[in-house]
Amino acid sequence: MAKEIKKLNELFHDTLMDVYFAENKIVEVLPKMQEAAKSSQLKGAFEKHLAETKVHVTRLEEVFAIIGKEPAKKTCPAILGITDEGAEIMEEYEGSPALDAGLLSAAQAVEHYEMSRYGTLRTWALELGLTDAAGLLQTTLDEEQATDLALTSIATSVVNQNAE
Ligand code: FE
Ligand code: FE
Repeated sequence: MAKEIKKLNELFHDTLMDVYFAENKIVEVLPKMQEAAKSSQLKGAFEKHLAETKVHVTRLEEVFAIIGKEPAKKTCPAILGITDEGAEIMEEYEGSPALDAGLLSAAQAVEHYEMSRYGTLRTWALELGLTDAAGLLQTTLDEEQATDLALTSIATSVVNQNAE
């Protein structure tokens, strides 16, 4: 029997479930990173982004509603790999002056992953004529980009100096 032909709307839904899994995972992980961080600036950045990430979860729920689906998660091995690496850094660099630099690198890997997913989903939403969904996805994409820039500025100002 021929494999059922999947279409762009199914790919959109699959990827939405992947990002929904990832965002929920990040809500779980960010408090641990906040606790581990030494720099108060970095702690503050993680705290702020935790609040934003909770909104990202609810925005995704709005997108599920727009396409008439219940919010559901699909295991995302990419985010599990990135967060596993972060956990490894927290363990191996505990008490080290390089810990914050390591936390920053892990956090930026997360943001870049999210940026790639949200950029893709936004483009597909436009392709599918889901203008409102595209707007929601773009808003989250903007916040991920702003977070990435804020982390870069923390990295250059405080953390990397301490690590040397
Ligand atoms: Fe997010
Ligand atoms: Fe994020």
